[in-house]
Amino acid sequence: MTNISAHENANTQANERTLVAGFLDKLTPGGSSGKGGASEARQVATTPLNVLYGTVTGTAELIAQDVGRAGRDQGMDAKVIDLSLVEMDAFANMKCVLFVCATYGEGEMPDNALLFWEALTAPDAPRLEGLQYSVLGLGDQAYEHFCNAGKILDRRLEELGAKRILPRVDCDIDYEENAEAWMAEALPLSQSIIASLNTTGDASAAATSEAEPAAPKKAWGRKNPYPATVLENRKLSGEGSTKDMRHMVVDLGDSGITYEAGDSVGVMPVNNSALIEQLLARLGADAGMAVPDHDKPLGELLRTHFEILTPPRSLIQEIEKRAGHSELSAIAANGDKEALEAFLWNRDTLDMLNLNPGLQVDPLEFVSWLKPLQHRSYSIASSPILQPTAVDLTVAALRWTSEGRAYGGVASTYLADDCPLDVKIPLFLAPNRSFRIPEDNTAPVIMVGPGTGVAPFRAFLQEREALGAPGRNWLFFGDRNRAMDFAYEDDFNAMSTSGLLTRLDLAFSRDRDEKIYVQNRMHENGRELFAWLEEGGYFYICGDATRMAHDVDAALHEIIAREGDMSEDKAFGYVSRLKSEKRYLRDVY
Ligand code: NAP
Repeated sequence: MTNISAHENANTQANERTLVAGFLDKLTPGGSSGKGGASEARQVATTPLNVLYGTVTGTAELIAQDVGRAGRDQGMDAKVIDLSLVEMDAFANMKCVLFVCATYGEGEMPDNALLFWEALTAPDAPRLEGLQYSVLGLGDQAYEHFCNAGKILDRRLEELGAKRILPRVDCDIDYEENAEAWMAEALPLSQSIIASLNTTGDASAAATSEAEPAAPKKAWGRKNPYPATVLENRKLSGEGSTKDMRHMVVDLGDSGITYEAGDSVGVMPVNNSALIEQLLARLGADAGMAVPDHDKPLGELLRTHFEILTPPRSLIQEIEKRAGHSELSAIAANGDKEALEAFLWNRDTLDMLNLNPGLQVDPLEFVSWLKPLQHRSYSIASSPILQPTAVDLTVAALRWTSEGRAYGGVASTYLADDCPLDVKIPLFLAPNRSFRIPEDNTAPVIMVGPGTGVAPFRAFLQEREALGAPGRNWLFFGDRNRAMDFAYEDDFNAMSTSGLLTRLDLAFSRDRDEKIYVQNRMHENGRELFAWLEEGGYFYICGDATRMAHDVDAALHEIIAREGDMSEDKAFGYVSRLKSEKRYLRDVY
């Protein structure tokens, strides 16, 4: 059984893989604003606008890039900087900063912001009276510690004396509107702050050359995905498997999309037609019904515009008020989050309506409770060196039944069932600059990717082979049963034979009574794993965020403490150093 509310959504609060292409377009003046376009912007000794980002999967970085681009279009010297590169001394001299900060896991800072955060919260952190700032937080309201990283950052800056130019804005997974509103206010405010600093003379201002030309606008994004043709959709899972894993090849055609190993694609899914029919019947509505403020009829909106599987908060609240369902009302009255989660387990929007079979709901009211359909990210499983104009994807179709009803993950079953050869899938590139093979081709690489987590590592291995990288490669892979669930077995066996894979350690969890997971294999090989790290190794995790990534992280700490003869604190410090050196990278969902 799978928790409806948890499946397929990016399971970290840093659900920030949504590409932001184009969503700043409205904010970018057409070149005739008072301050002129980028081409007019010649800046001499001006105070820069620093746009700093903390990112997990790349979206905060993309938003920051868009902010930077719009800032430059408005004549500012906007610098977009990864928080892992920001030294406290340099930060203490900044005058105007816009932060875009995602939240990881249970309210934690993204990996790339950890050292900055450590320095900012240290007892000797500098006073920041000279700083003016605003924070855009990214998160997922389904999580208790929604946007926590942005919140604590905002609070700490205030404690240190920095002046907030605009209240923090916290964005849920459908962040565009809030982010747009924040930027629409934050940029002009920054501009006037910078103008007044330039007039009064800002010691931090460095002479700069001409503003960088605005980067070309990204053509394909969430709002205008590219219709990519399916070239292959075949089962990876063998006969008798309890899973339905797919290998898909999707043509990028004339899109002009170029990608790197480690990137993902965002797929705009189409909702399940049986569920749409059932909802229309339950609401007593016709698919052709017009919906105010939308240019498509109800049936089409349910197909491509709204999330109709996971019940959103507003729908739960409205149904609770009207359904007269004693259990749900008791939970709501107690405010018991765990009980609510258990209640919602395996219930979709149709189940919520059916809590009271006699309940009449106006179809237009029903859609007003729904959230926009989100894209789902899939890590690319191929290297662009081998396959520049198409991407491989590894998809696990999520299916379950409950009380006699069949359910399916929104995007995974759409891809598995509705996207055979030649069908067009709406997608866009979601670059993940934080998840790359080492620049140093001789560096050892350790990759931990059970289940669909193996996808980017297939791309990494292809890439390293194509580059002729002499560095050693170690893959930890696992899934349910070896006979049926060893995805890409032939590929990995061939890579082992050729010597590309120095080590391949496998953990099949359901071949025996006792569960064996990738972290058990890590422990068994702890001494060697630690030796690889000591020799400059890079450590990567991809896959499930809720349990696997957490447990693998714990195993890594234990191994370092044991093999390095370190205290828990020292092992923690060792891992922090790996993170700051960008040698511990995660792509988890
Ligand atoms: P999975 O089927 O959930 O698990 C893969 C292997 O990891 C199984 O052997 C599993 O064992 C094991 N495992 C379970 N708990 C673990 C833990 N705490 N530590 C280490 N290993 C553990 O993985 P998946 O195929 O990657 O699917 C994960 C979820 O991600 C699915 O819900 C999928 O829909 C979603 N998702 C998939 C994609 C994609 O298809 N590319 C993208 C985004 C999200 P047991 O099950 O035997 O315990």
